[in-house]
Amino acid sequence: MKTLEDSLREIIALEGPITVERYMSVCLRHYYATRDPLGAAGDFTTAPEISQMFGELIGLWMLEVWNGMGRPAPCRLVELGPGRGTLMADLLRATRLLPDFKGAPTVHLVETSPSLRQRQQDALAESEFTVQWHDRFEDVPSGPILLVANEFFDALPVRQFLGTNRGWCERLVGLDDEHLILGLRPEPEPALGKPLRLGDVLEWPGVSVDIMGTLAGRLARDGGAALILDYGYWGPAFGDTLQALKNHRPVDPLQEPGEADLTTHVDFHRLAQAAATQGARVHGTVTQGEFLQALGIETRAEALKARATPAQAADIDRALTRLTERGPTGMGELFKVLAVTHEAIQAVPGLPALPFSS
Ligand code: SAH
Repeated sequence: MKTLEDSLREIIALEGPITVERYMSVCLRHYYATRDPLGAAGDFTTAPEISQMFGELIGLWMLEVWNGMGRPAPCRLVELGPGRGTLMADLLRATRLLPDFKGAPTVHLVETSPSLRQRQQDALAESEFTVQWHDRFEDVPSGPILLVANEFFDALPVRQFLGTNRGWCERLVGLDDEHLILGLRPEPEPALGKPLRLGDVLEWPGVSVDIMGTLAGRLARDGGAALILDYGYWGPAFGDTLQALKNHRPVDPLQEPGEADLTTHVDFHRLAQAAATQGARVHGTVTQGEFLQALGIETRAEALKARATPAQAADIDRALTRLTERGPTGMGELFKVLAVTHEAIQAVPGLPALPFSS
């Protein structure tokens, strides 16, 4: 059977080397369309799969923001890249705390993978809300928005440039006799100017910037708020952050294309800039640990433990530690949280209302 690698070889033989962005895009589409990548049996685990507390606290965040907005109805509760639908299921359950909310939103899941859409449908089968699926955020019907995206932006393709004495040259994926290999476009990219240092890699998340620009434009026009959680940093920064994970282990991103999860670290500064340019207000970033603690994850863990067996209580404690852990490898510190809102929303729970300056 023809593999994705065979198809990529054909494309490259026919058209010449392709950009890292196109390579990632082809691989990721295949990857997400052909499997459930999450959980112990998959390639990686995400926060909502670690504990229900994550989605529940985001549900409470949504309630508070919705309340502060004057309880608009109808409104659109949106998730970008919902995975197994776990976050949305936990979030919706938590919103039962405020019964008035039930009549307000329709739920919109932006998901390109048919197999994950099926998983999401199963997860939300019991939900009292009307759920619709869309290929693109642009297709979400008009109206005020409450949006969440966890580990969505890290799964979008980026362009990469290497600093050379000719300028920033784009990294390409080409072929030697047998293997896919990394190469460089000989002509530099004039728009990027002079490199700071030879050998630096500059990543350009054009797809993310476009999606954030569209989302922020929509928030500025129709009102609402978006909560973005992902692993990443506040740029500018240099370095090659492309990584491939298979069975929870790093592998070579050019090996077995379309069979490993490809991600890059999210530059929140670029996302914030893209949002501010559209007239939206930016809140944060803070680390995931700070955010979840500000929303009361410890109190929620105690409440769950009060009704748990000793084994379940130990699981809850482990999950709490994993979600909030500090240090260079802790999820609580590696992951950052950013909110983007209509400018009338001056504060949101758990994030400082710092004036953004680019
Ligand atoms: N948010 C989930 C899953 C993260 S994995 C969680 O936290 O568990 C990334 C998700 O984004 C998957 O559901 C994947 O199919 C989806 N996705 C990737 N690229 C996409 C795109 N361009 N448009 C819409 N969804 C996309």
